Amino acid sequence: MIYLKTREEIELIRESALMVSRTLGLVAAEIKPGVTPLRLDKLAEIFIRDNGGVPAFKGYPGAKSPFPATLCISVNEAVVHGIPTDKPLKEGDIISVDCGVKKNGFFGDHAYTFGVGNIKPEVKKLLDVTKECLYKGIEQMVSGNRVGDISYAIQQHAESHGYGVVRELVGHGLGKNMHEEPEVPNYGSRGNGPKLKEGIVLAIEPMINMGKKNIKQLNDGWTILTADGLPSAHFEHDVAIVDGKPEILSTFAFVEEELKKQGVL
Ligand code: MG
Ligand code: MG
Repeated sequence: MIYLKTREEIELIRESALMVSRTLGLVAAEIKPGVTPLRLDKLAEIFIRDNGGVPAFKGYPGAKSPFPATLCISVNEAVVHGIPTDKPLKEGDIISVDCGVKKNGFFGDHAYTFGVGNIKPEVKKLLDVTKECLYKGIEQMVSGNRVGDISYAIQQHAESHGYGVVRELVGHGLGKNMHEEPEVPNYGSRGNGPKLKEGIVLAIEPMINMGKKNIKQLNDGWTILTADGLPSAHFEHDVAIVDGKPEILSTFAFVEEELKKQGVL
């Protein structure tokens, strides 16, 4: 069942979402060649706990073992659910950083994909288009539309650039649970799926591959990789329908402020 949220509940989700946004901003300041994903993870965990939040991914149940870290850090051909390692990042890598926080009983869950140092123009384009896909999906989040309108908008934009849209992993409702109904696929057809209503809160999260849509899983039980080994990007926002229109509860402002300082944006 889809839980529609009150204005008060939406404010609590916003608080958790913004803690994730600040965490991503902090991480953005540290990403450079030579830094390890494990160090980024440690910084994120300390920041979240210092601010009265709980890292929501840590201990999340999986098929083989609970997720061991605060951040999912997925490098290059890793799509999502990467476990932070002690392998230093290299110039030209891309890393998707996904973070979940629980505070006051409500979850925030969002993600950004960063370049490490200089990245190839074709990889930069993948990042740009994936972020555009996210906003094209969000535009469809108006009362009376359906989940399929979001899905269709994302898929059309990605495929118009020749990219592959991951099928097996999807966006989701968000609230007192990190994953609630409805599922929000990044592919689909207009006018299909559950109706979007006032108070719905969704985590919209396109996962877009430079090559084919197919994926495989590492035997760590978590990390999802592209089957063809080409890079993949992932951007995620938490969005509510307020007064019939999309209101983004998370923000990339902290990340973008940092990227501007670095001359990346
Ligand atoms: Mg999510
Ligand atoms: Mg996420």
